Amino acid sequence: MHTQSDKEVTVDCQCAECVEYEGPNPKLMMFRLFVITAQIIVGLYGMLKERSYKALWAWLGAFALFWTVPRYLICARCEGYGRDCYSLYLGRIVSKYLPKVEGHERPSNLGIGLEILSLATISNAPMIGMRGNRKLLAVYMVLAGITFWSQFLHACRHCAEYGEGWKKNCPSAKTYRLFFGGGRKVQI
Ligand code: SF4
Repeated sequence: MHTQSDKEVTVDCQCAECVEYEGPNPKLMMFRLFVITAQIIVGLYGMLKERSYKALWAWLGAFALFWTVPRYLICARCEGYGRDCYSLYLGRIVSKYLPKVEGHERPSNLGIGLEILSLATISNAPMIGMRGNRKLLAVYMVLAGITFWSQFLHACRHCAEYGEGWKKNCPSAKTYRLFFGGGRKVQI
């Protein structure tokens, strides 16, 4: 199985952030990773505390799905494979256990559908599971909100303003341009 090593790939993007850091700003990424880790811990704790085992199993299943099929059908085809990409370094993480897939210019629709399904379950199952505990639910929702908006305003912004090929026309990138412009013409 072919995987790419850590330092094999350099950054093509010439935006100010990529030029300065050879990828996304590491301090910002550490903050984002800290928040999503806290979100996961609070979600797990909340479901266990509320004994919401159905939600917990759905959540674990969604994680298993997220890290397998969509990653193979999306990240393994992406130019970000093997790199510290803006989506929480997924490109580098995925290259540690999945081979690169050549010959595909864009992710498969099945991969995108499964991605949406897994992410929706991962973020919503804990909220359903801990709906009876308002304090924990509020903490979880604040963390989930920061995760969502930091992804949108950092990773989606980067693709909206500097992405090429399918990434610049991804629905999230288009949505970003619709609201924030970003110097590129919005193509809906
Ligand atoms: S840029 Fe997106 S699709 Fe490409 S490797 Fe990173 S997370 Fe996966």
